[in-house]
Amino acid sequence: MKRVDDAALRPTTLAEYVGQGALKEKLAVYLEAARQRREALDHVLLYGPPGLGKTTLAYIIAAELNVNIRVTSGPAIEKPGDLAAILTNALEDGDVLFIDEIHRLGRVAEEHLYPAMEDFKIDIVLGQGPAARTIRLDLPRFTLVGATTRPGLITGPLRSRFGIIEHLEYYRDEELAEGVERDARLLGVALDGGAALEIGRRARGTMRVAKRLLRRVRDFASVANETTIDLSRARRALDELGIDPGGLERRDRVILRTLVETFAGGPVGLDTLATALGEDRATLEEVHEPFLIQRGLLQRTARGRIATARAYEHLGLPAPSGVGLFDDAG
Ligand code: ADP
Repeated sequence: MKRVDDAALRPTTLAEYVGQGALKEKLAVYLEAARQRREALDHVLLYGPPGLGKTTLAYIIAAELNVNIRVTSGPAIEKPGDLAAILTNALEDGDVLFIDEIHRLGRVAEEHLYPAMEDFKIDIVLGQGPAARTIRLDLPRFTLVGATTRPGLITGPLRSRFGIIEHLEYYRDEELAEGVERDARLLGVALDGGAALEIGRRARGTMRVAKRLLRRVRDFASVANETTIDLSRARRALDELGIDPGGLERRDRVILRTLVETFAGGPVGLDTLATALGEDRATLEEVHEPFLIQRGLLQRTARGRIATARAYEHLGLPAPSGVGLFDDAG
């Protein structure tokens, strides 16, 4: 049995990175310019929903520049000391420092990051109390790559210190299929084009989801002793996984059904809906809702969440009169 882990499947060059065409074109120019000038790349902020490839892109940037990458995350950097430790240890000129979930950086640590990004210097406090003194250390000319799913939570001063700010888009079904076909090849799975596209269609525009579905479909095929995965095999497996042709999972349908049946389609407040679902408010808002909103099944309005006519249609229920009127309310 061939066992390939996730890290081995990560694309390592811009050319292998599927989709995100506009972003890739710009990045290729910035990378080439940095290489020509033999300078560190400007700091990069990548934002977009989870699973679209921000972390992967950070690794690619480092590989394309032929430098090392250090990886950390906002929640891991609470105190200025945590930041100083990372910046003064093992970073060399040109290296990439990747901070995932950078919106969750501690406030004081964030303030220490400003001079580090701008002047490549960091202030370190030695000792405590009245005897404490501050020394300023020079840092290598590193490139900070920050990633966030919540760009609105990035403070103005932090945002303004990034020279390159880019948004990642949801993938088209064909792009997801291309990513899935690539992984299938690397995993040694015989998957036909129709099956790859079907997985892409049900993957919510998200590369991580597409690649996860491929693995689950492969499980179904191997348990059934089938060596090739064709369209009908893929469909049956996806159905058994509870993923419908629109990419909705069971949980998504429960959310829509609760909204429609318990709250007459809304409007209902987020907290009330979360309680009725036995779900944590943040999970509902950040994990489940974005996809339902993107697909036009649910809307956030000033008065609360509402189900759209399309949600009724998806559940196979007749929409009450007037529901369509909300559809463009925003
Ligand atoms: P994010 O950091 O945005 O949450 P990741 O970079 O961790 O997303 O990507 C999730 C998964 O999808 C990884 O397994 C990664 O290899 C794969 N992936 C993401 N974007 C692409 C892409 N454009 N082409 C191929 N694989 C991708």
